[in-house]
Amino acid sequence: MSGFVRIIGAGLAGSEAAWQCARRGVLVELFEMRPHVMPPAHHTGDFAELVCSNSFKGTDNARCAGLLKDELKTLGSLVLEAAYAERIPGGTSLIVDRERFSRRITEAITNHPLIDVRRKAVRDLNQLAEPGIPVIVAIGPMTTDEFGDNLAELVGKANLYFFDATSPVLAADSIDRDVVFEASRYGKGGDAGYLNVPLGKEEFIAFHRALLEAEVAPLGHGEEMRLFEGCLPLEEMARRGEDAIRFGPMKPVGLTDPRTGAAPYAVLQLRQEDAMRSAYSIVGFQTRLKYREQERIIRMLPGLENSWFIRHGRMHRNNYIDSPRLLAPTLQMRERLDILFAGQVTGLEGYQAAVMTGLIAGINAARIAGFGSLGDEEHMMNEVPRHTVIGEALRWMSDAGNEDFRPTAPVFGMWKDVPKMRKKERIAWYAKMSKSGIARFNEL
Ligand SMILES: Cc1cc2nc3c(=O)[nH]c(=O)nc-3n(C[C@H](O)[C@H](O)[C@H](O)COP(=O)(O)OP(=O)(O)OC[C@H]3O[C@@H](n4cnc5c(N)ncnc54)[C@H](O)[C@@H]3O)c2cc1C
Repeated sequence: MSGFVRIIGAGLAGSEAAWQCARRGVLVELFEMRPHVMPPAHHTGDFAELVCSNSFKGTDNARCAGLLKDELKTLGSLVLEAAYAERIPGGTSLIVDRERFSRRITEAITNHPLIDVRRKAVRDLNQLAEPGIPVIVAIGPMTTDEFGDNLAELVGKANLYFFDATSPVLAADSIDRDVVFEASRYGKGGDAGYLNVPLGKEEFIAFHRALLEAEVAPLGHGEEMRLFEGCLPLEEMARRGEDAIRFGPMKPVGLTDPRTGAAPYAVLQLRQEDAMRSAYSIVGFQTRLKYREQERIIRMLPGLENSWFIRHGRMHRNNYIDSPRLLAPTLQMRERLDILFAGQVTGLEGYQAAVMTGLIAGINAARIAGFGSLGDEEHMMNEVPRHTVIGEALRWMSDAGNEDFRPTAPVFGMWKDVPKMRKKERIAWYAKMSKSGIARFNEL
């Protein structure tokens, strides 16, 4: 194949898209504004930076997140390969050393002879979208105001946004290891990777009360708080009652405190951040509390009295487009088949969904580029088959009947026309259908 593709953004989606184009022999111009212009959740100039947790979720293919990994592997995902190469202990989840992971991807992309990296902020999409050159918009949820306004001319000012928050990261040597113990739930996954802060009943009640009473950082002027249900700030979850957190992120199941030989009343888990174990992030503690309140509340907990914050939690505004009305399941704009979208901006949520959309947008853009001319009906690309995690998620995202469109990670609930059967058989069926569907797409 030959041709030329332009990609805006070298996040998870844009990096994967660039790789997919280049491995098909297509020239890529990849625009990335970092480190010159930094979106609020990023900290480095490296590609595919993980903005919050360092987890790519579970690997068990009986679950949707695990089956998606199988599909991405089969399709030759660069990002997933890097995640496995830089995996660190974390039970059955795919947890990565975030710095080594991003560095590996940055090197692979910058060293590729067909990818030309441009470190600059794109201001005007029209200047890039020349006839014969497909463009992938992979700008993530937080582009510049200038480019956001420019894009609104094309996609309409749908004003779709929601708020998402990050969790604090603590220095490992400030955690009291006489109290905080290492273990993963039910001992799954060998080498643990998790530290556990055990709370008694009184400690938990005091912690819950402190969360309710703590001061939160204000939102922007005139902004209404719309949250992503799958990743609520802990203080918001606390407002739904003690049980919402004690049976949610702080559930004590599958963990025994070696000091008492019993399960604690509640547990706050800390996840290893890097291979050196120099830092730990607090699982489920995404927050918009003011910084000093985060420090006060975390230091109330046993074993964290002297904890030192490497990074505080923060709330960010995320923007996404109205995909059901704008995009086809191929990730092409219905009205402009030479412009494709990928990543969080499509409203498909999470790291894996960003990789997935980047991969499909990359494959399709490379195919369009191979045709050498663009813009008519014939260049609607191939859809990923039904009854695969990717195919169903892309159809859900682009379903014009999807009235109340909100960011969602791929789940089995998106699959349509699933035959009725028992759970065990259904899980086997998902895996079988996914394998054959992705194999067919790979042959196209
Ligand atoms: C605060 C926050 C926390 C999140 N936490 C998690 C989590 O823990 N787990 C999870 O699975 N998902 C999480 N997400 C959701 C999502 O997975 C991430 O946003 C993910 O990074 C999306 O990947 P992406 O490639 O779409 O965007 P990004 O990784 O943000 O990449 C977009 C890239 O485009 C660049 N860019 C933007 N505009 C321009 C321009 N005009 N010109 C040039 N370059 C540009 C940016 O600099 C950036 O590098 C979180 C999102 C946010 C905002």
